[in-house]
Parts: sequence; structure tokens; C-alpha cells
Amino acid sequence: MTQSVIPQATPVKICLSCGSDHLNPVLDLGTQPLANNLLSEDDLAKPEPMFPLGMQVCGDCWLMQLTHLVPAVDLFSDYLYFSSFSEAMLEHARLAAEKYRRKFDLTADSFVVEVASNDGYLLKNFVAAQIPCLGVEPAANVANVARKAGVETMERFFGVESAEEIRSDFRPADLILGNNVFAHAPDTNDFVAGAKKLLAPEGWIVFEFPYALDFLEKSEFDTIYHEHVFYFSLTALVPLFARHGLTVTDVERLPIHGGSLRLTARHEGAGKPSDEVARLLQEENDAGLTGLPRYREFGETVTGIKEALTTLLADLKRDGKSIGGYGASAKGSTLLNYCGIGTETLDFVADRSSYKQGKYSPGQHLLILEAEALAAKQPDFALLLTWNFADEILKQQTEYQEQGGRFIVPIPTPKILD
Ligand code: ZN
Repeated sequence: MTQSVIPQATPVKICLSCGSDHLNPVLDLGTQPLANNLLSEDDLAKPEPMFPLGMQVCGDCWLMQLTHLVPAVDLFSDYLYFSSFSEAMLEHARLAAEKYRRKFDLTADSFVVEVASNDGYLLKNFVAAQIPCLGVEPAANVANVARKAGVETMERFFGVESAEEIRSDFRPADLILGNNVFAHAPDTNDFVAGAKKLLAPEGWIVFEFPYALDFLEKSEFDTIYHEHVFYFSLTALVPLFARHGLTVTDVERLPIHGGSLRLTARHEGAGKPSDEVARLLQEENDAGLTGLPRYREFGETVTGIKEALTTLLADLKRDGKSIGGYGASAKGSTLLNYCGIGTETLDFVADRSSYKQGKYSPGQHLLILEAEALAAKQPDFALLLTWNFADEILKQQTEYQEQGGRFIVPIPTPKILD
């Protein structure tokens, strides 16, 4: 007889960037399942791994980071987030690739590496433009999809070791891209050191990640999950890059994923910080990101959102209304599990991804149905769990709305859309 071993989370007691032990609690989201770990019907009877989920901030470098880490192997072995399922993201990727090609003069002699290249959604644009490129992607099933799309992909986590391997098997990179991976890599010093190692002397690093200022201002607590270790401000990033001989030369705020930062870095001496870098550092300072009170205020705001949302949903149920959900996302998992919203409140969750349909949401075990289920079953209300794609989803769900269905947006203030 075999016994399954449930892995343990490791408490984070020193800052994962600067090593300081001045860590201050910001928010406790309780004990939660892995947000991307969708369950099959057979899984429902088995014990579900649960880990503490919380956030803290370093009082020395002001990096927001999780209170506990879960071993990476449990997180990415069967990763279900296929980028290509969002039209907004595909368009974002296409425009970004075109912009980089022109801005960095990329040609058939260049070499582009993307870390966490997913299913090749971004690099396929470089393949089409005949610019040599390589994807680095730890999830085997996702890497296979990329290869089928013609994107050469190495099945690895990124860090110093894999950077050295790429340098010797291929060559130094003129452009290193990383979209929504930098904040997911717990050993952030190894990740940045890997980028330093792989970068050609005149090359560029461009990382995109959810931005701490948007995160705090819009109370986006549901973007906290075990995979998402860091919430980067520019204040916290400048010393992290400098520690590894890299200079942050530019930053750009983007609307994607509830507000992201696109950061450009180069070898020290290869470029100077733009005026925008200084301006944004000042803006962060003015917004209170270099002091504890702003983070504590965020924690209190989130508690208020939980109260308001659960009250709103309970009132609707008491009035005999039916409620569905839309978007079986990691965000949705955090929100539902933190607020304790389950099958007593939501009848099902609709989602466009065929990989998710027929499975059950982590923790709350809500059945995931196809996107059309909203109009077919027509619950009175639908809780929008993927508010970051609200415009796109509202356009796709016209039938549901024309039949009288109404969406509820949970963040930053729970409300029923007109
Ligand atoms: Zn620190």
C-alpha cells in the first residue's frame, strides 16, 4: 500500500531579496489549496493539500512577499494556464513582439530568450519574423504545445544553472523576456543572476509583472496565491537588480492583469535610468510605499471587501436569487476560499478553457462548465472572478445579459453592474 505524502509549506522568515529579518505581516488569507490545482471528480474524495497563504512586507527593501512557500514541483507539474486562451493576451503579445523587434533592432542574427514561454503565445511572433528564439518552460505539457507550434522550448526552471546551459548550447541573449514569471520565482536572486549571466553585453532584459502600486490602489488581493511569491514595486526592484550588476533603465505601466509594470534592465554601464524611473520612484514614495502604514491600510481594506461581498451575496440568496460564477482562475480560487463562498452560494463556474471544463474548483469544489452555460442556465447573477478580462467577457456574454443576467464585480468594491 502506498501512502501519499502531503508536502509542507516553508515559512519565509528573512526577506527573499535583501535577506533582512524585518518582515511585517500585511494580510492573512487563511489556509488555502493551490489555486491552479483543479480537481477531477475522483479527486473530490481524496484529501486536498492546503497551505497557509499570507503576505508580508520587508521593512528594509519594501518588497512584498508571501509568508509561506510551497515546493515548486507541486506548483508547475501540470500547469493549466494556457496563455493562448485569452484574446486580449494574444493581442498584447503580438503588439509587444512587434515593438521589441523595432525598438531593439532584432534581426536574423539576434537571439531572443523567453522565460516561462508557456505555449509559445509570444515567441511564435518572433518565429514568424524569422528571429532566432528559445523558450524556457518548466511544465512539460505546456512545452509540448509550444513545440508543436514551432517554438523551440527547453523544459526547465530559469536561474543561473539554466542560463549557463543556454549560453553554452546556444549563445548569449540579445533580449531576455519574462512575462508573469519573475514574481513567481521564489529564489529571486538566482533568477536575476541568471538573467545577468545570459545577457549579451549590449542586450536588454524586459520583464512584465503585476505592479505593486496598482495592486495596493485597486485592492487586488485575489492576485495573491501560492505561485505568486512577490508583489514588486520599483522601490524594491532597483536594489535587487543593482545587487547583480544590472541597471533598471526604463519602466512602463501597462493596463494588463489589473495593472502591470514593464521593466527594462541592462548591464551596469550599458545604459542609464530614464526620467520615468526617477518619476515612478517618487510616485511610489508619495503613495506611501516606503512606510508600513500604507501596507497595513491595504490589509484593512481587504477585510472590508470580504465583508461587503459576502453580505451582498447572502442578501441575494435570501431573496431567492440564483448565482453562478465566471472564470475558473487562480484569482477566483483565492477570492472564493478567502471569503468562504462555495456551493451553497454559487451553482457552478463557467469558463472558456476546455482544459478546465468538467473539473472542480480548488477548495470550494464548484463544478466548472463551458462559457455558454451562463446563458443556458441563466442564473440571476454571475460573480465575475476574472475581472481583469471584464471588457472581453462582457462582450462574449451578451446573450446572458440580454436575457436579464447581471454581473457582480467583486473588486475593488463589490457591486452589481448595470
Ligand atoms: Zn528586503
